[in-house]
Amino acid sequence: MEKRTRVRFAPSPTGPLHMGGVRTALYNYLFARQRGGDFILRIEDTDSHRFVPGAEAYIIEALKWCGITPDEGVDENGKVVETASEKHPHAPYRQSQRKGLYRQYAEQLVANGYAYYAFDTPEELEKARAEAEKDGKTFIYGLPTRMGLRNSLTLSAEETARLIEETTGWTIRFKMPADTVVKMDDMIRGHIEVNTDTLDDKVLWKRSDELPTYHLANIVDDHLMEITEVIRGEEWLPSLPLHYMLYKAFGWEDTMPRFAHLSLLLKPVGNGKLSKRDGDKLGFPVFPLKWTNPEGEVSRGYREDGYFPEAFVNMLAMLGWNPGNDRELFSMDELVEAFSMDKVQKAGAKFNPEKAKWYNREYLRMKDDADLTELFKPVLEAHGISVTGGPQSPLSSDFEKGEFSWSYVKKVVKLVKERATFVQDMWTPAESLFKAPVEYVEKDWAKFWTAENAEMAGKAVDFLLAFNGPFEKEPVETALVGFIKDNEWPMGKVMNCLRLVLTGSASGLGIADILSFIGKDELKKRFASARAKA
Ligand code: GLU
Repeated sequence: MEKRTRVRFAPSPTGPLHMGGVRTALYNYLFARQRGGDFILRIEDTDSHRFVPGAEAYIIEALKWCGITPDEGVDENGKVVETASEKHPHAPYRQSQRKGLYRQYAEQLVANGYAYYAFDTPEELEKARAEAEKDGKTFIYGLPTRMGLRNSLTLSAEETARLIEETTGWTIRFKMPADTVVKMDDMIRGHIEVNTDTLDDKVLWKRSDELPTYHLANIVDDHLMEITEVIRGEEWLPSLPLHYMLYKAFGWEDTMPRFAHLSLLLKPVGNGKLSKRDGDKLGFPVFPLKWTNPEGEVSRGYREDGYFPEAFVNMLAMLGWNPGNDRELFSMDELVEAFSMDKVQKAGAKFNPEKAKWYNREYLRMKDDADLTELFKPVLEAHGISVTGGPQSPLSSDFEKGEFSWSYVKKVVKLVKERATFVQDMWTPAESLFKAPVEYVEKDWAKFWTAENAEMAGKAVDFLLAFNGPFEKEPVETALVGFIKDNEWPMGKVMNCLRLVLTGSASGLGIADILSFIGKDELKKRFASARAKA
């Protein structure tokens, strides 16, 4: 029987989740969903020096915003689970709270000859490092040096026992075997071989804080949590030989997970890695949500910039994966269906901020007008407009009071959504449908409010006020164009002058569109205001 798929996203709460981290979580999630398996969130917080307050809550909120929901590790309230239950059998899911668990595993490795105690003080190590550098070498704690250092391989059993008992600065290090070729397989990169001679003896456990290092905790927890695939960033590929050796040393080779190392996200230009700092430098977000660091510095987020989570997720999915054809738009469910590891690319994926906007535009267009109306409401309110009633409300507008019915807003949304990338962008084209211009763009005024234009526009306004057909886009347009043509007036001049009167500038929506929204009274008022200014 095939094993149940279990994957995990294992961030360290050292800061906000970068969009590359979100992509790692997403690919894990898609992989699990597709196979009807489990997606687990585990917090790898054993490096207390790098702990950043707020980072864990940020990670959970970011995943939630994206719709990447863990099956295990986080409860309904969005809290990391600390007590085991049927749904969360491996709790606690925060490694710092699993602290007591790891020492025995490290000691098991010592007992079996795969690891040893190291007693070197930081000063001793610093000295060894400096000496190596004097000879133009880099110091590694490992095969070439370990027999000259202070550890259980070089000290007597009694001295070792004494130091373990009486001192607290020691560590347990992995004893990397000599000249062994580690043969590894990566789901994305294929077969890889590395000779252990290039590898050092990594610290697995530290007596000082009684905490495991990343390597030990990661392997032990993946084993205990029955993880079947480890899907993570490429930066962990150099650790893979050690991880293989650890599985072997523990005798867990039979249940060792498969590995997939995802390529990096690259800067829009050049080949560098997309870093946390790039966003603010290059003018786009690199974080899913806004983040304020402990020093009070703020980094922008996709959510706060107005991106739809669906657009962000779709864009991220395509950064490094493709469906094998040129389709670009996928809902989460469609991604679950289409995703496959063999189409994840080996090469780094260049991030294109324009493409991110393109996605948002596409999703904005696909959104239901009623949903967009709800989303547009707070934008209107921020501009002093109040929206009355709900979807059943009749069309109504009160320019004096700045009050418009929900249905009126929905009609506006339908008209302007094509012109926007973000919900908040709809305000600019829509403004004249909610407010009379308070001022006029100076150069447009100079160009289009000439005595001659104003005269023609005035007559056109009188004509419109007397028009007794339905005051809707098509009939108004036909009548107005017909009237201008019959008079043999220059169409552009008259129309631009009218647009200036209605919107305060010579660009924007079509005249008939605007008229159909604002109606005759407001037309009359706006023309009177323009004339008053003149
Ligand atoms: N805690 C590691 C990180 O922050 C996890 C690496 C892994 O998935 O093994 O990226």
